[in-house]
Amino acid sequence: MRYAETGFNLEIDLSRGNIERVETDPKETELYLGGLGTNAKILWDRVPPEVEPFSPDNLLIFSAGLLCGTPAPGCNRTIVTTVSPQTRLMAFSMMGGFWAPELKYAGYDKVIIRGKSPNLVYLWINNDKVEIRDASHLKGKGAVETQELIQQELDEPKAQVAAIGLAGENRVYMASIEQGRSSASRQGIGAVMGDKNVKAIVVRGTKDINVAQPDEFLELCNEVLEYIKFRNENPIPGVMTILQGLGSPQEMATHDEKWHTENFMWGNSRVRRKDFWNEEIAKEWKETMESMQTRLISCYNCPMKCGATITPPGQTTYMMKCFSKLTYTMAAFSNLAFGLGIAQKATEYGVDGFSTPQVMAFALELYENGILTDQDMPGMPSDNEGRFLWLLDRIVRREGIGDVLANGTYWAAKEIGNGAEEYAHNNIKKHEQLPLKLSMLNPIYFLMYCTGEKINITQIEGQFPQAPYPKREDREAFVKDWFQVPDEKFKQYFLDWELRGENSMPYYPTVQMCCDIVDWQERMHYIDDALGMCSGLSSFPLKPPYHMHNYPKFISAGAGLDMDEDKLTQAARRYRTLVRANNIRRGMRRKDEKPPEDHWKKRFPELEAELLDTYYKFKGWNNQGIPTKESLHELGLDYVSEDFVQREILKDNEGTPSKETLAEKEKK
Ligand code: SF4
Repeated sequence: MRYAETGFNLEIDLSRGNIERVETDPKETELYLGGLGTNAKILWDRVPPEVEPFSPDNLLIFSAGLLCGTPAPGCNRTIVTTVSPQTRLMAFSMMGGFWAPELKYAGYDKVIIRGKSPNLVYLWINNDKVEIRDASHLKGKGAVETQELIQQELDEPKAQVAAIGLAGENRVYMASIEQGRSSASRQGIGAVMGDKNVKAIVVRGTKDINVAQPDEFLELCNEVLEYIKFRNENPIPGVMTILQGLGSPQEMATHDEKWHTENFMWGNSRVRRKDFWNEEIAKEWKETMESMQTRLISCYNCPMKCGATITPPGQTTYMMKCFSKLTYTMAAFSNLAFGLGIAQKATEYGVDGFSTPQVMAFALELYENGILTDQDMPGMPSDNEGRFLWLLDRIVRREGIGDVLANGTYWAAKEIGNGAEEYAHNNIKKHEQLPLKLSMLNPIYFLMYCTGEKINITQIEGQFPQAPYPKREDREAFVKDWFQVPDEKFKQYFLDWELRGENSMPYYPTVQMCCDIVDWQERMHYIDDALGMCSGLSSFPLKPPYHMHNYPKFISAGAGLDMDEDKLTQAARRYRTLVRANNIRRGMRRKDEKPPEDHWKKRFPELEAELLDTYYKFKGWNNQGIPTKESLHELGLDYVSEDFVQREILKDNEGTPSKETLAEKEKK
């Protein structure tokens, strides 16, 4: 019997119209867990690097995490994997909501889509009955609107619908997949769904999931719920509001946006408004939020209620996601009412709330600097808010300049030329990043930014505080109940971290300590992404309810795998390396692993090189970031090194850099 997982994937070939229910190998679950882990393995096995994002041979994989559908609180993530048109690398965007548990209850762990449909279709997965249905009547419909129309059409109000809007249909690189109360937004996965001509995937499931040791599992769940309650009643003192509690940083229940508005950049990620937040704005924004907020909501089986449904005047209701609450407002130097209104349109169009405002602000910056002219922007309104709405419409329709901007700032700047590339200044791995420009290098975040392959905001957040506490007694108080650390040494790292002097940034935490911290933070993200856990309850906040000590117990009692901390660490390292291997095979190298030039004002090139050298070594990668034969062997990934040798990415004699590596080194 299979526990926690169903043991079956749904394979759909759109070109041939073929649907198959395929039993999976339990050995793969032992090695790669599920969710992201097994997605990475499937992509490795079946999508060689020659396959382009918009090729019928590219796969689009929707996976429920290993523990989704069990009673584990907050375990509801769908992990969507494909080759990204934006980065040309492996994408693994997540969404919360209700879709993943529903898929499990329908009897599947993953939906694997290949090929392309000749016409627009939607997939209807109703337990054992699976159909490819015509969706021509849904062409051009909004992503949220589509969800409602399909539920009505099928007379299935409980069906969960993941849909794209106009942006996905038009293969806009920022296109998202929207679903109930969440979305998978990063890396243009909605564009791949549009390219395959799939408007929506609809799921209804009424079966059960087996849990290996139900009593033990429920006890663990209760411990988590009790801890959530405790933490809500006892927020962490001394850190900014968003770090005091659990959940994602949506701040729908609280309205204190001082930290975000004054520390993140406005416009095209360039302007910091240090004294923006005052009493008047706090009052105005609170009134705006309270007048438009319909109710606070949660994803499946989560008590956090960290999201909200929003109804702007004259517009339909939508779910506000995460930091999108502020992105449009800040890009347009406008107010919250404008931000919430345009976000409704953007949600229906189905676009990433992080990249899209940056792309629009980038276009206006080019216009203000004469790189784009009136000829490029015929009929654009003269007011800033009007311009944002005008640009959004053009981008999702790929009309005029919108067709160029629809490829994101990196590719658009290349196409526009004439100095535009200097304005696309906030990218890593060809993708728009967090609109942050800070003063002095933070070595921990440097490593997370450089080596992160998830390309989203949470990849650079973790369980170690972002900055030292000025007073030793506060640090002592913090470490007292910090039981989540995987090793006691992390407490000492934090205790000795000072604001100034010898033990301050950028040389403290030391390079070795930074490697330990980044490795821990990253490990937790990767475990979440295989299990389907919301990072808001695990890898994202300080002192979360899920951590390195209780996760093995959850996996043992839930999935029936014989798991302990070492084995879990090893499994996470294995599929984390496999994600990297997919990207290395697609050409990613050290040259791609750098934060934006002006991300910090004060940079330390020698220290940065040492950080990367040491971290690569620590991870078992060579100085180009390529996993070595030895480390691949240790992880049971010899098939990867064989492929690398065949492609001359690695030399046969382990550790020796390949011709390509040496040439790149010389160029530098
Ligand atoms: S913490 Fe928030 S985002 Fe995460 S599962 Fe709960 S409600 Fe959803």
